[in-house]
Amino acid sequence: MRHDDILNRSRELNQKLTVLDTHLDTPSRVLNLPDWALHEKSEETLVDLPRMRAAGVNAPFMVVYTSPSLKGQDALAHALALSDVISGWVEEYPRELSLARAASDVPAAKRAGKISVVMCMENSSPILEGRLDLVRTFYRLGVRYMSLCHFKNNHLCDSSTDDPLHGGVSKFGEEVIAEANRLGIMLDVSHISDDAVRDHLRLSKAPIIASHSNVRKLCDHPRNLTDELIRGIARGGGVIQLNFAAQYVSADYLVKYNERKALLELKEKEIDERFAGQEEKAKAEKEKLSASTPRPPPPPLEDWFEHVDYIADLVGKEFIGLGSDFDGIGAWPGELEDITSIDLITAGLLKRGWSEKELAGFYSGNLLRVWRKVEEVAGR
Ligand SMILES: [Zn+2]
Repeated sequence: MRHDDILNRSRELNQKLTVLDTHLDTPSRVLNLPDWALHEKSEETLVDLPRMRAAGVNAPFMVVYTSPSLKGQDALAHALALSDVISGWVEEYPRELSLARAASDVPAAKRAGKISVVMCMENSSPILEGRLDLVRTFYRLGVRYMSLCHFKNNHLCDSSTDDPLHGGVSKFGEEVIAEANRLGIMLDVSHISDDAVRDHLRLSKAPIIASHSNVRKLCDHPRNLTDELIRGIARGGGVIQLNFAAQYVSADYLVKYNERKALLELKEKEIDERFAGQEEKAKAEKEKLSASTPRPPPPPLEDWFEHVDYIADLVGKEFIGLGSDFDGIGAWPGELEDITSIDLITAGLLKRGWSEKELAGFYSGNLLRVWRKVEEVAGR
C-alpha cells in the first residue's frame, strides 16, 4: 500500500476501533488557562474535544496530577481541584462526554457516540498518612488507576528518580495497594522505583499497569522499565502503555536533555541566590531562562516504534498500549503534532504487520482486559 493509502486506512481504523490513551495531563493545563473551554481548539494544549473526535479517541484517561512539591493538605486540596476540572467537563458536555466508572462503560459510551472520560491519579500524596478513607473518596469521584508517587519519594513509596527511603513501598503504601485491590482501582507503576514495582507485583492481587513508561534497555532512564519488570508485569497479566516523552524515547535525546537540565540547574541556583526572598521574581526569571534555552531537536517517531517492537518481541503484543503523556511533556517525536497524530501510530503498526485484531488490543483491548480483571478481583 502507498503511504497515503495507509494513512487513510489508519484514520478509518481509529474511528472504528475503541481508542484509549491512559495518560493525558490536559486537566493540569487548565489551571493556567482559565478562559479555555474544552470544546475550543487551543493553541496551548495538544488535546481538546474537537481533536479527540478527529483522532477517534474514545477513552481519554484524564490525570489528577499532584506535584511532589505539594505536601499534606496542600496536595489533597490540589487533587480535589483537578478532579473538579474533570467532573466539571463531564457535567458541562453531557451529550459529548460521560465518566467511566467501569470497564464496560467504555464500549457502551462508544456505542452511544460519547467519549468516555476516565479519571486517574498520578502521585498519591493526596492520600494522607493513615487516611484510607481518601482512597475511597477518590474512587467515588471516579479515580480508576493510581500511582503511589512521582519524581520524589513520599510517605507511600520510593520514586525511580530519588534515593531509596522505604526500599520500595512503605507500610501505609501496602495498605493503599490492598484498598485499591478491594475497591477495583488499577495500580500504576510508572515513576516508582524498581523495588516498588517488585512490591506491587508481589502485593497486588490483580494485574498492574504502567500507564506511561518505556523500555530502559533502549533508553537508559531510571523512569523506564527493565526487561525483568516488563516480564513481571506481563506474567501477571498487566500492560505497558508507551509514552511519547522524548527523553524516555531516545537515548541520544536523553544525553542532550540531561546536558540542558544540568545547565538550567546551575543557572537556576544563581537566580535563587540573586533573588533570595523574592520568590515571584525568581520564578519569572526561571521561566524566562527555560524559554530562552533551546531544547535539543526531537527524536524521530521511528525511535518510539523500537520500544513497541522490543516489548512485542520480549513478551508479546497483548501487553502493549498507548499512554501518550500529551499535555504533560515538553518534547516528543518530531512527526507528532497533537492527539490527532495517532493516525501515524496506526500507520506505523500496520506497516509492521500488526493485524486489526492486534491494533484493537493495542488501543484498548489489552488495558480493558486488565481493568476487567481488577474489577473481578474487587468483586471477590
Ligand atoms: Zn508522569
